[in-house]
Amino acid sequence: MKSRSILLQNETILHIGIDDTDSPRGMCTTFLSYKIVKFLEKQKIQFMDYPSLIRFNPNIPWKTRGNGAVGLTIKTNNPKKIKNKIIQFVASYSDTKNGANPGLVFFQNKEIPASFHKFSKLALWKLISRKYAKQFVSENNIESFYLGNGQGLVGAISVIGYEFFDHTFELLCYRKKSQFGKKRNINKESVKNMQSTTFPETFSSYDSENDRVLITPHGPDPVFCGIRGETIKSVVKASAILNPDEKLDGYMVFKSNQGTGDHLNNELQIDELKPFTSGFLVGEVCSKPVAEQGGHVFFSIRVKDEKIRCAVYKPTKITEVAQNLVPGDRIHIAGGIRKASKKHGRVLNVEFLRVLHLAKNHLFANPTCKKCNKKMKSKGSKQGFECVKCGNRLSTKSILEVPRKIQCKLYLPSVSAHRHLTRPYQRIKKRNKHAEFNTSIPWVHAF
Ligand SMILES: [Zn+2]
Repeated sequence: MKSRSILLQNETILHIGIDDTDSPRGMCTTFLSYKIVKFLEKQKIQFMDYPSLIRFNPNIPWKTRGNGAVGLTIKTNNPKKIKNKIIQFVASYSDTKNGANPGLVFFQNKEIPASFHKFSKLALWKLISRKYAKQFVSENNIESFYLGNGQGLVGAISVIGYEFFDHTFELLCYRKKSQFGKKRNINKESVKNMQSTTFPETFSSYDSENDRVLITPHGPDPVFCGIRGETIKSVVKASAILNPDEKLDGYMVFKSNQGTGDHLNNELQIDELKPFTSGFLVGEVCSKPVAEQGGHVFFSIRVKDEKIRCAVYKPTKITEVAQNLVPGDRIHIAGGIRKASKKHGRVLNVEFLRVLHLAKNHLFANPTCKKCNKKMKSKGSKQGFECVKCGNRLSTKSILEVPRKIQCKLYLPSVSAHRHLTRPYQRIKKRNKHAEFNTSIPWVHAF
């Protein structure tokens, strides 16, 4: 009994948060964490949970790709050694020469303080400065490490503080080093087959509307493909169906907030719409939608007494829906606030729209003569209308009700235009409760 309690005393729960180790030119924070996990497997440690891959506000200007941070939770009796080794990993694998600003945070306690949770919630929809992150680190006496300007501290703190209210899994397959930067080839039929066999337990793998494979990225990073799904079992099963043209290094499964719409749960305050914030508004369409150059559709909504211009971009493939809105329609609309430029004021870039109430679409037309069944002619401004055949006169236009082409429902962009965080149709009512850490299915594997 005695030795057991001593052992427990010496064991520490260590939370590790890593962010911003990648650049558009290469690397990937998930791959770095895969390397770290492979190292940890050889140490006398115990993994306490799946690695987490949390996506934060996708509408911030300085993100590389998806603004994702990675978290690990382990139990160790030599935290000092582990921490030093992880600092070495981050220092040597971060792509700092191409603009990565890595941040690393350690938190040594089982329970995560509320201040972390609060910070994390803000990072989902706000723009958080590195100054604020550095202040948080020093005020709370947190062990941290950073390179470059330290922007990565924001995600590193936030991933530790993240609380799941729903989750999905993503299995990421990594390439052999010799393949980095080369074109990814995968048998398309195998992806289609994987989707049809496992959907809706996996999602956003293949866009049948546009005949596009969605699981392979296009950049020079070490990821070969990523499979998103509801359970660890479903993503591992799905990965075995794929038929890649190259020998891969291995895979790791992350517990994630992808597909949860996490960044759009916050109601934006109409009187203080800061650039780069994400969230939703409920309001009334107050201007006729206009299609501009490039096929993007713009309209305005009114919330309380303020107006905001909204943009629906062509690739979303919901521009036609937007064009069919009329003033008076009540909508729930979500997305990110684009900074004002010389040409445009602030704009809400629409990521989904839900029609709550459809106004009547009235068309005013010259009246028809009841006797002759002919359209009457206008006699000029406020002069009324006259039938050219019989001389019958009427003072007002007639009102026609035009049937609406859209419905009271949710409209999402085409799956090819989804972000990592977009909650797809099949997940609208789905919420995954806490997932036990189950090691019977290998969550990390070298081929
Ligand atoms: Zn007439």
